[in-house]
Amino acid sequence: MRQATLGILKPGVVDRERAVREAQRIAREAHLRIVWWKKVLMTPDLAETLYAPHRGRFFYQRLVLFMAGEEVDVFVFEGEEAVRRWRDAIGPTHRAANEVLPNTLRGMFAKSDTRNAFHGSGSPEEAEHEVALFTPVQSLRQAASMQ
Ligand code: ADP
Ligand code: MG
Repeated sequence: MRQATLGILKPGVVDRERAVREAQRIAREAHLRIVWWKKVLMTPDLAETLYAPHRGRFFYQRLVLFMAGEEVDVFVFEGEEAVRRWRDAIGPTHRAANEVLPNTLRGMFAKSDTRNAFHGSGSPEEAEHEVALFTPVQSLRQAASMQ
């Protein structure tokens, strides 16, 4: 089934240009098309909304602090089974699992469980919600710059 999914190059990656290039390459190999890409200032509100399902978990505060106030690259990918394919491309959440998978984006760029370099929507429902959360940012910015 054709789907759209959200990817984020998170803060804390030193060579962001290389990370973007690798993300583009891996997405292409997975037959995912980048249909939207924007540098977005991750406000505290956006970070809290993105990670609302994790509110109350021990890592939640750390996670929001890590993301908030930073410019991140946000991507929307489209293609067959896009949600699963992008998740496969980034690799598992935890460092112990992704560091032995050097062909995944987290395997290449993650530093720790929290600072794991890339985000990917976890399910089609999550993807729909997350794409809707971020894509209006561009329209609002465009609208503001036209005034
Ligand atoms: P994923 O991003 O792989 O979907 P989760 O949705 O479970 O993973 O968690 C969201 C984010 O929270 C992770 O990408 C990671 O940055 C952080 N995180 C998750 N679990 C932990 C943990 N045990 N310790 C520290 N940070 C974590
Ligand atoms: Mg998740």
